[in-house]
Amino acid sequence: MKILIHGIPINSGIAIGTAKIWERENVLNLVQECKVNDINNEIIIIKHSLDLLKNKINIFKNINNKEIIDILNAHIVIAESIVDEAINEVTNNRECAVAAIRSVTMKHIDELQKSGNELITMRIDDLIDVSSQLISLILNRQLLYDLYVAEDANKEKVILVTNYIMPSEVIILKDRLKGLVTEHGGITSHSAILARSLNIPYIVIPENTIKSLIKTISNRALIVDGYRGFLVIPEESDMTSLTKIIDSIDALNAQFLNEKMEPTVTLDGKHIKILANIGNIEDARLVSNYGGEGIGLLRLEFMYMNRNYPPSEEELFNALKRISEIINGNEIIVRALDAGGDKPIPYLNITKEVNPFLGLRGIRLLLKEHQEILIDEIRAVLRASVFGKFGFMIPMVSSVNEILEARKIMSEISEDFDKHNIKYNKVLFGIMIEVPSIALVIDKAVNYVDFVSLGTNDLTQYVMAADRSNEKVQYLYNELHPSILRLIQNITNVSNEHKVRVDICGEIAGNEIALPILLSLGVDALSMNPVSIPKIKYIIRRININYIKDHTIKLFKDFNTEDDIRDFSTETLIKIVPQFKDLTIIYENYKNSLRP
Ligand code: PEP
Ligand code: MG
Repeated sequence: MKILIHGIPINSGIAIGTAKIWERENVLNLVQECKVNDINNEIIIIKHSLDLLKNKINIFKNINNKEIIDILNAHIVIAESIVDEAINEVTNNRECAVAAIRSVTMKHIDELQKSGNELITMRIDDLIDVSSQLISLILNRQLLYDLYVAEDANKEKVILVTNYIMPSEVIILKDRLKGLVTEHGGITSHSAILARSLNIPYIVIPENTIKSLIKTISNRALIVDGYRGFLVIPEESDMTSLTKIIDSIDALNAQFLNEKMEPTVTLDGKHIKILANIGNIEDARLVSNYGGEGIGLLRLEFMYMNRNYPPSEEELFNALKRISEIINGNEIIVRALDAGGDKPIPYLNITKEVNPFLGLRGIRLLLKEHQEILIDEIRAVLRASVFGKFGFMIPMVSSVNEILEARKIMSEISEDFDKHNIKYNKVLFGIMIEVPSIALVIDKAVNYVDFVSLGTNDLTQYVMAADRSNEKVQYLYNELHPSILRLIQNITNVSNEHKVRVDICGEIAGNEIALPILLSLGVDALSMNPVSIPKIKYIIRRININYIKDHTIKLFKDFNTEDDIRDFSTETLIKIVPQFKDLTIIYENYKNSLRP
């Protein structure tokens, strides 16, 4: 087994099947400017394309699936409106049919993008989808549908690997898709919503990877792991056994989703807060959909990227207020900008460093060179606190002095608010534990914080001295290494004593293998990719923490090698949910494949 790419999970589940690659062209880009004399003929062409499209849509509406019917109805409305406007365009400007449809579409895309309303901009996909279909019908171009449905007699289900997929195509191909891999697409796009409603595992891989993969994966068996975001090539000889295993995981995944709204209480009565990591306003919609109780990590970086200057206090405030509304006033932990390291923001003029991961990143950068950004963020969070429940945490903390400095800035801002009668509510103050130095003086740090949040992604790389993005040292990058777990154990012990809440927001929070150990160490909240929430909730509802706690503590003293800990946690998980044996077999294969 070979892991080809680490992408982003968009829909959970694992699928195995033959890869079909579709390097598509953007139909809108194919259309050239053209003028006509016979206006009436162009109008007939446009109207005919609308009739054809409606017929096609109506065939697919014959299904008992609300998401699909809603989207198809919306597409009919969009198509009618594009056609009306395109006819005006033909009449007034003598544009040919396809050019008129393209002009109308581009005009609307521009307006939608400018609107800044995230719900509206999300629907640009649908607009492109509908007009591409109209144009394709007029130009009689081959569609995905023709390629994979109409022309393929044996109707084998496939893993579709493509640049992007339009919502209508997910609907049309629904009986043909085992798994989906695209280069473009977000977790809240209509295509993603449809993939979830149809239970199709889906990941997004980096741009331009398909080109380099064509030779390796065309018509070969592939595994799409929608839990971890992996695209994997299995050995041909393992295919039969893997297919059986993956089918049973599929059934288990459906059970997770059935229980996603149930409370997250262990068998012995402990409530574990299950929160989501999100990076933009659109993602916020997914939190409640997946049964999350709030946001445990709001990465602010998204507000600072793809622009030439930082967002103002007002912009930050509006975004936070909006996110709070979307998640019905539930808790949001906002993380101060974590720039530097692997997250460059050009206009901040971060000096080029030989070793950026050990350089001026996170809170270091904010305190040393960009206090104005920290101040705007704190002011925005305090103002937003009137509209919801907020926490604020600082990343990449390595010393108590940094905590004191950041706290001082927060207190000064609160005093200023008091002086000017600006309203705010209590905002919890926390730190991320990502650097070993702060983990080792946790008994001092807890005196100055309301909560700590373990950023195990960075903590692992710094403890193990293994770059989190370097494939060659992935075998050392082990979140379940006893050194990390002992640190977590010390952090939870000290924090519980001081009544300071412990969250985990690194990837380990969504890793079911780690879950029995993390719970027995006494964490209060887990914050993860929204897609993982149903799975983690399902297990927590079946765990008895007291029952495993003593075993874990003993094991931490008595283990011989690092593998003993992973084995214990895996065995415990399988005792709790026996079907996980299947998933662990797959993960075991990954582990071997990662060894250099
Ligand atoms: C972490 O380091 O665990 C974390 C959550 O932060 P990021 O992945 O954004 O660095
Ligand atoms: Mg980090």
